[in-house]
Amino acid sequence: MNTRSFDLVIRNARLRDGRKLDIGITDGLISAMEEKLSGEAEREIDAAGNLVTESFVNPHLHLCKVYTLRMMDELALQDYHGGEMGRAMSAIELAARVKEKYDESWILPNVEKALEWAIRYGNTHIRAFADVDSKARLEGVKALLKAKEKFKDVLEIQVVAFAQDGLVREPGAEELLREAMKLGADVVGGIPWIEYTESDMKRHVEIIFDIAQEFDKDVSMLVDDAGDPTLKTLEMMAVEAIKRGWQGRVLAHHVRAMALYPEPYFLRLTALLKKAKLPVVSDPHTGPLHAKVKELIREGVLVCLGQDDITDAYYPYGRNNMLEVAFLASHILWMTSRQDMEKLYDMITVDAARAMGIESHQMKVGNPANLVVVKGEDVLEALRFHDEPLAVISKGKTVKS
Ligand SMILES: [Zn+2]
Repeated sequence: MNTRSFDLVIRNARLRDGRKLDIGITDGLISAMEEKLSGEAEREIDAAGNLVTESFVNPHLHLCKVYTLRMMDELALQDYHGGEMGRAMSAIELAARVKEKYDESWILPNVEKALEWAIRYGNTHIRAFADVDSKARLEGVKALLKAKEKFKDVLEIQVVAFAQDGLVREPGAEELLREAMKLGADVVGGIPWIEYTESDMKRHVEIIFDIAQEFDKDVSMLVDDAGDPTLKTLEMMAVEAIKRGWQGRVLAHHVRAMALYPEPYFLRLTALLKKAKLPVVSDPHTGPLHAKVKELIREGVLVCLGQDDITDAYYPYGRNNMLEVAFLASHILWMTSRQDMEKLYDMITVDAARAMGIESHQMKVGNPANLVVVKGEDVLEALRFHDEPLAVISKGKTVKS
């Protein structure tokens, strides 16, 4: 009998179900999971009984905006010292001023820095949003597409061309969005609730699906991201997804208004979400309200967690550390039972991957080897430490150890 040979073997890996196995990796795929795996390996990692799981997946990150908080501070200072009226700019005006300065040449180094942190924290799959509007133009999309290419051996990045300032109220944005798709963006991104009227919101949803159909791409939309219970763009999105046959190719983000929905409407909405195969990404750490995560899970809707922002106008912290995101969510959502913790872990690994349309992320033989060796022997300890993994394997290669 020939001896089996592997590119990499992870020894003494503690699985989430408590078993201790060796994991063999060949040609980028998981090729064996056995006790005391025999065979030759080019390289071995001893996990020493620490937890080994799927790598982390981040389905929502405004990647073109990372580290722009300092630019806002500088603009605010300039305005304070040099402004004619000595007035302070509002956060929204400041954010818009930053976008007027958008240039691929300074966005790209910021993006690369955030992606280095992603690798360090075992965050190998990212759905990354780039603003597309008259101020940002296509600068963010261009930077993200370059970064995607540069990191393609290590990270899986889905670039979302995102109409942050609206489509009906922002003339020219629709054409820019089409341009971004032609440049190679992977996902069409909308934000219907930002429009002024309900009919404009509906129109926004229709335009996004028009472009998605035109380019045969998936849809991601930021919906109902305000404390206003009359906002119903998630419903509009689900209805349109069913109408266009786009079930399972759609992803909703935020839905903070959901916190204020009366129960009967909430239940009607969850039935619609299941019919549309429309998952929800929640980022409870970046705003005062959040989607009804526990209730959505109870009703059988696929829910996952996102990093959302890293050091920009909307959130000052963030490291692309999805364990940190789950740790924060555990407190904010008060999900602290063992069962809750297991769910939270799914929400930053396999569930997040499914939400992004990636069905092969489970750690099993035949699937791509995207794995982390996490400090601690179970999910509770992984969350407690929310530390950088001891090793990160992406596409079968060790990218951090
Ligand atoms: Zn967001």
